[in-house]
Amino acid sequence: MKLIVLGSGTGVPSLERNAPGYYLQVLDRECLVDCGSGTLLQLERMGRSCQHIDAVFITHTHPDHIGDLIPLIHALKVIPGFRREKVLSLFGPPGFKQFFDNYIATVASLPKHFGVEIQEVDRVFEYAGVHCQCVPTVHSESLHSVAYRFEVGGRTVVLSGDCDYDEGIIQHSSQADLLVLDCSFINAHKYPGHCSAGECGRIAAKAGVKRLLLTHLYPVHGAEDSRLGEARAEYGGDVRLAEDLMEIEV
Ligand SMILES: [Zn+2]
Ligand SMILES: [Zn+2]
Repeated sequence: MKLIVLGSGTGVPSLERNAPGYYLQVLDRECLVDCGSGTLLQLERMGRSCQHIDAVFITHTHPDHIGDLIPLIHALKVIPGFRREKVLSLFGPPGFKQFFDNYIATVASLPKHFGVEIQEVDRVFEYAGVHCQCVPTVHSESLHSVAYRFEVGGRTVVLSGDCDYDEGIIQHSSQADLLVLDCSFINAHKYPGHCSAGECGRIAAKAGVKRLLLTHLYPVHGAEDSRLGEARAEYGGDVRLAEDLMEIEV
């Protein structure tokens, strides 16, 4: 699998860190996990195109995670000389279908020459030969949120979406080769619904993951070294801060 960080940031506009979005190539499929505003431009910066995206896995419907969904569907209809025929698969947590019908489909107007398939995810599902799992995360009282786990060929990637510390995300991440984890704040700025850096380290240690990538980084002056230090105080493995356009082979 190949992971590219398209957005290591949040809903706070930033020239350094785009809103959340990840490109995941798995087997012959090109996927996005979350699709915040700017995701399509970040794909272009990587020399890739939204034309080829097969599936989008949405962790939850907060605006910073879905801002480019309407532009994605629109782009697939209007790129000159391009006629998409393959289905676009969209996965999301409970409530996603209603959200799509109410807010996305009404603005994007659905294409006639390719299908858009919406699937609300349950605990375990298959996508194109990839074993996928999701688990609810502790994040918001007003909507559902999930973390995803993708397994293929003995390799495992987990992307948490937005989450607070809990046993569910620890078990979900067990022995993963790569855990991409919400690290919104340093310990002193802990905010409910998001992990602090120390909590990220503790989750990685308890889950026994091989690599930890800290992401969803709120712009807090001077916090970047603190984040790494606080995570490393809890977790002795390989831990890094996500950067936009970073590529990781798993
Ligand atoms: Zn977020
Ligand atoms: Zn959120």
